[in-house]
Amino acid sequence: MTKLIFEKSKPGRISANIPSLTNEQLKPINDYIPENYVRKDIAKLPEVSEVDLIRHFSELARRNFSIDSGFYPLGSCTMKYNPKINEQVARFERLTKLHPKAPEEQVQGALEIMFILGEYLKEISGFKAITLQPAAGAHGELTGLLMIKKYFEKLGDKKRTKVLVPDTAHGTNPATAGMCGFKVIEIKSNSKGQVDLESLKNNLDEEVAAIMLTNPNTLGIFEEDILTISKMVHKVGGLQYYDGANLNAIMGIARPGDMGFDVCHLNLHKTFSTPHGGGGPGAGVVCCNEKLEAFLPIPILTKDKRGKYFWNYDKKDSIGKIKAYYGNFGMFVRALAYIWANGKEGLKQVSFDAVLNANYLKNKLKKDFDLPYDINCMHEFVLSGNRQKKQGVSTLSMAKRLLDFGIHAPTIYFPLVVQEAIMIEPTETESKEELDNFVTIMKQVAGEVISKPDFVNGAPYNTPVRRVDETQAARNLNLCWSLSCN
Ligand SMILES: *Cc1c(COP(=O)(O)O)cnc(C)c1O
Repeated sequence: MTKLIFEKSKPGRISANIPSLTNEQLKPINDYIPENYVRKDIAKLPEVSEVDLIRHFSELARRNFSIDSGFYPLGSCTMKYNPKINEQVARFERLTKLHPKAPEEQVQGALEIMFILGEYLKEISGFKAITLQPAAGAHGELTGLLMIKKYFEKLGDKKRTKVLVPDTAHGTNPATAGMCGFKVIEIKSNSKGQVDLESLKNNLDEEVAAIMLTNPNTLGIFEEDILTISKMVHKVGGLQYYDGANLNAIMGIARPGDMGFDVCHLNLHKTFSTPHGGGGPGAGVVCCNEKLEAFLPIPILTKDKRGKYFWNYDKKDSIGKIKAYYGNFGMFVRALAYIWANGKEGLKQVSFDAVLNANYLKNKLKKDFDLPYDINCMHEFVLSGNRQKKQGVSTLSMAKRLLDFGIHAPTIYFPLVVQEAIMIEPTETESKEELDNFVTIMKQVAGEVISKPDFVNGAPYNTPVRRVDETQAARNLNLCWSLSCN
């Protein structure tokens, strides 16, 4: 078996390691390196065979939990399966080898992919215009609120200093509003888990720039009064921002544009099955109506009369660029593959199945846990671990115990309006068998809370890393890559 011998980096300044450069050429770089950063010993690199190397990385990969290794009911994060065909398409060399600075006439196909995707997303969300640039949901929110800010600046309306955010909102909403310089006003939700119209009315005035709403909200509940809310906000001259990170519940059935919203972001890495988190990068595209179109980031992808695509930079009211180049292109390819693979009826079916799966789990689990809002949910629902907390076991401990069964914990302690919250989103890509398996495990954990609470409080037992001291981890952050580098 061949050994992989890594070239040892020698003591001293950079020289032989970059054979294409002469010492003369390297001198300016070397002069720049402070003495204490110059290597004094030969680097200790391992000498291992290929099979050892592969086993090492495979072992590390196995320790990583992903949707490909098990059920991942992380509420609000929509961890649905990412079909592998999307990955194959995104890896076509003719797409991966493109240079972002290539002239438009040489990349018409890539531009067409982005254009067609944009058309579909406009149709799905019910809006007139789109930018694909933002790299995440939070980035989309920033884009949308900057556009709203510019809209009022353009009108010469200087009093719009407030953004309304319901108490069930995702944390990124108030953070974004704050970052854009707005005052964040919290709107209470009512006993049905929806925006309280009284609370809204009391906070609506000519200082309101916008309300940021998620619908269905993060309790998984559809805002029945959405049309009334839109009318109320527009009546005082405010705009409506739709947090469409998760469109899983309503895709193909209802559209934010039709609910009276002016602008929204959609997370391709949630609803449109492109990878998440460590598998990212993300894409938080922003769609808007004619009121806000002029303020979209430049450049705008445009099709001329002869059917050629080009980047239009000639938009004097644009908020400017929001990201390098045009957004995360690989994600656009995956999302379009997903839309085409499902088709119009398929996308609608996604929503039906996501809602059905969530309601199935909710009904199966509502006897074993508290259910603060016992009404039909949309793509997710929120249980409370209050009953178990009284037995001395917190939601956190139950979430840790689930890891022992190869299940990723649901989102916990969010939304904040539910104590000991357990927010479950199964998504449409799970089978009935998998859902039933989850129900059995959740019931077992609920049983263990009664029969052996201390055991649950010590979980997890089967994971590569056992229970960590979260307070210590936050206070004494140690980012060493190996135990020996302490
Ligand atoms: C995930 C999510 C966001 C933020 O999206 P990121 O891509 O993580 O920045 C915003 N709002 C809601 C409701 C979400 O679920």
